[in-house]
Amino acid sequence: MPDYDAIVIGGGVGGLSAGALCQKAGMKTLVLEQSDRIGGCCSTFEAEGFHFDVGASVVEAPAAFYELFRRLELDIEDYIPWHTVDPIYDYCDIGAGKRFAYPTDVEATAEVIAQISPEDGRAFLDFARKYTPRIMGLMNEFFFAPCQGFVDVLRLIKKYPGMLNALPMFATTHQKIVRKYFKDPDVLATMAFQSFYAGLPPDMCAGLYAMVGLVEHEGIFYPKNGGMIGIPNGIKKALEDLGGEVQFGRRAVRIVTEDRTVRGVELWDGTEITSKVVISAINARKTYTELVGHEHLPWYVWRGINSMELSMPCPMIYMGVDYEPPLRAHHTLTLTGPEVMNEYWSDYYLKGKIFEMDGKPEIMGLVSWASKIDPALAPKGKHVLTHMGLAPYALAGNDWDRHKEQWIDDAIATIEKYIIPDLSDHIVYRDMATPKDLERMLLSPGGAVYGIQTDISHMAMFRPSNKSKSIDHLYLAGASTHPGGGVCTVIAGGIITASLVEKHSARERFK
Ligand SMILES: Cc1cc2nc3c(=O)[nH]c(=O)nc-3n(C[C@H](O)[C@H](O)[C@H](O)COP(=O)(O)OP(=O)(O)OC[C@H]3O[C@@H](n4cnc5c(N)ncnc54)[C@H](O)[C@@H]3O)c2cc1C
Repeated sequence: MPDYDAIVIGGGVGGLSAGALCQKAGMKTLVLEQSDRIGGCCSTFEAEGFHFDVGASVVEAPAAFYELFRRLELDIEDYIPWHTVDPIYDYCDIGAGKRFAYPTDVEATAEVIAQISPEDGRAFLDFARKYTPRIMGLMNEFFFAPCQGFVDVLRLIKKYPGMLNALPMFATTHQKIVRKYFKDPDVLATMAFQSFYAGLPPDMCAGLYAMVGLVEHEGIFYPKNGGMIGIPNGIKKALEDLGGEVQFGRRAVRIVTEDRTVRGVELWDGTEITSKVVISAINARKTYTELVGHEHLPWYVWRGINSMELSMPCPMIYMGVDYEPPLRAHHTLTLTGPEVMNEYWSDYYLKGKIFEMDGKPEIMGLVSWASKIDPALAPKGKHVLTHMGLAPYALAGNDWDRHKEQWIDDAIATIEKYIIPDLSDHIVYRDMATPKDLERMLLSPGGAVYGIQTDISHMAMFRPSNKSKSIDHLYLAGASTHPGGGVCTVIAGGIITASLVEKHSARERFK
């Protein structure tokens, strides 16, 4: 008898969600986490009394959470209590120097936009009226459905004909959609930057991502219990309450196979744990190239998986300050228009360069102020700030370990220039996770935010499959499988993966 029915590699939100559902389905489930902390890039760490979120800083449209806990037959409020975050962003346009915030309420946002451009205020309402029902329909249907190939797509369309309305969004770009609606450069910038959530500039990103700017109006949430780590902690507790196990400091180095069928997992110390099913919830490219290995894969799978691009990394800066910073929102974003974003990609990112304006580094990004909503994240009278930027993994003529302190200095200078003029006088703690640090910490190649890139050629059935097509009883979860990265999205992926495990385990009677 194998030791377990299901082993999950990786204690991120994707792996935990799939694991909890397998346990719920009556499978004896073990989650292996290589580090000593739960949650991967949706987690929180403590330094000198400050609690910093490692990467993810909020959750958008948490339908997947409710679906997960509905399937677990547990009350989400007992596991992940939420704060609501409003406004969504305070924007700071570095070109025009304008500052304005979008609330969650759609009409109230249209009024903010109308003060900048009455025409765009009306266009925003049209945009929301046309696309909100489509995107919410898509999220309810496509989001939780397997997409292993054309047959799944046809099945989905047959079941939910409304999906046909959403298909054109896959066939166009983010930039084309938002340009049709918005003319004012500041407003356009606020509708175009979400393409970077897919790790791509607006002219390369699938049109579907233009909907993120609407999904955000369904609500933004932050856990009440200790920062973003409250999310994986809540799912871990659910898994354990159902009888599952999570073990820390347990790095999987090999997925053991025999005749292209999974037999278990080998750990870094040589221990072998047998299992009927393995769910790899780490980077898909790494799963196949390092843990399964070349000799166990057909050549075309090897070639395909090796050709998959990694998604963009996001360097994170962690700052503790000794005062209440003069910010107006949980998130403050410095941004520019789509042309500069496209130029950033082609002239800087792809060349390994750091973005510059007037010959000086300009570190645009997102400042998160988590202790605004949860003061317990910082010592009394102090606050935590994080800054998420965009930068290549491989720096031309430089190295992140050497460049780290310079990046922090340059980012602080940019924040002082546009958002918090006296920031450096108040910093009492500073550190950062470079893309290399994120890679070392999470064993995630390239420190990639979403594992594999999320352009149209790496989406849905073109993304590594939730159920492996080349190794029996091997499944994938997490950001680099369908439907992709993001906290809610990997939960949806975990739901899909667990449903495939359940379906096939029932068929093959391995329960
Ligand atoms: C900087 C940054 C900011 C982000 N901001 C947001 C945001 O605001 N909102 C949002 O929704 N999403 C955000 N995301 C994306 C989101 O956090 C991720 O897509 C999601 O959390 C990924 O979950 P996952 O389970 O796929 O993988 P991960 O979180 O990467 O977890 C994988 C886990 O596997 C472990 N592991 C790796 N290799 C092994 C091994 N061999 N053996 C055992 N364990 C292993 C790792 O230690 C890790 O804990 C952000 C991501 C980053 C990096």
